[in-house]
Amino acid sequence: MLKKGGKPGKGTYMCAECGAEQTLAKDTDVLKQCGCEGTEFKKKGEKKPVGAKK
Ligand SMILES: [Zn+2]
Repeated sequence: MLKKGGKPGKGTYMCAECGAEQTLAKDTDVLKQCGCEGTEFKKKGEKKPVGAKK
């Protein structure tokens, strides 16, 4: 699990609490606390095409 304040690198991350997405454009970007006050995030799959929902 990734925590707020970490720098996991470029990519899209989902809040573990509410599923809100946060996109980091640079490897130096920091994960910010979610609007729901969640502080843990999961990385979203990178290889799925955008807009592909189950
Ligand atoms: Zn959240």
